[in-house]
Amino acid sequence: MKKIGVLTSGGDAPGMNAAIRAVVRKAIYHGMEVYGVKHGYQGLIDGSIEKMELGSVGDIIQRGGTVLYSARCEEFKTEEGQQKGIDQLRKHGIEGLIVIGGDGSFRGAKKLTEKGYPCIGVPGTIDNDIPGTDYTIGFDTALNTITDAIDKIRDTATSHERTYVIEVMGRDAGDLALWSGLADGAESIIVPEMAEEFDEVIERLKRGHDRGKKHSIIIVAEGVTSAVDFSKRVKEATDLETRVTVLGHTQRGGSPSASDRVLASRLGAYAVDLILEGKAGCMVGIEKNKLVDHDIIEVLNRKHSIDLDMYRLSKELSI
Ligand code: ADP
Repeated sequence: MKKIGVLTSGGDAPGMNAAIRAVVRKAIYHGMEVYGVKHGYQGLIDGSIEKMELGSVGDIIQRGGTVLYSARCEEFKTEEGQQKGIDQLRKHGIEGLIVIGGDGSFRGAKKLTEKGYPCIGVPGTIDNDIPGTDYTIGFDTALNTITDAIDKIRDTATSHERTYVIEVMGRDAGDLALWSGLADGAESIIVPEMAEEFDEVIERLKRGHDRGKKHSIIIVAEGVTSAVDFSKRVKEATDLETRVTVLGHTQRGGSPSASDRVLASRLGAYAVDLILEGKAGCMVGIEKNKLVDHDIIEVLNRKHSIDLDMYRLSKELSI
């Protein structure tokens, strides 16, 4: 293989740039040419494709977002859209594609592979919702952003003796909520994977209040309910003064953490190794600090789960 392409697709995540850099540098190291596809699958269909050099990825390892831009593209879900993409890749003489993104992006990559066009997926999403890898690129940075924000909220929560309901991202996964809840000592963590007894949440709040706690933090994963609705229920059940914070897209931005940069560099480079070995239709990941690869369909058929030991621990520490 002499020419490969790289694109970022779906929700952006801090560390995607470090992954692009790794793909480009590792491929050039092996004597290949690399082409950047801008705006995800939409750019692929439109032929928004440019050759990348060593210098194209200089000074981006520390930047959030993605220099290749990202997009969502409904047309690519159709046979015609996929064929248009393949036609563009063939026109440019590109023989394989590395797709950095989440599960939706991987489905697109699998479709191309099934049509005879080799693709490798690199998991880039803050949600950490992809089975087959312990961590996805961007999760650690988003977690640190949330922790930083909650530390600030704590100061004002204590001063005014308030209960804060904080909504965090994660789509259908509770990882960001669980990890940030543990990192921030939240009283309650509401995640989609576990049924939370509302009465238990209220009891814990009252217990804390009775023993003189000056503030309480409840973290709600966006996949369960909105912080506004949850706070309404808390207000109805208690006379505690309650406030809501929705952290929103701040969680997606910012300079990637050192962990995310290292992870992105390892996964991006490994994807190039695999494509050179002739592998296709798989995603790279990290399990127990070892680089691994799995068939995309096999991974997408698995159900994402949270770490139950961590969930139990969060309950034990917030008695
Ligand atoms: P993420 O990759 O972050 O999960 P999306 O689910 O929005 O984000 O998917 C990103 C893009 O991947 C979509 O806009 C679409 O172009 C492509 N995609 C998603 N699902 C499929 C599918 N089943 N077949 C082909 N392409 C898909």
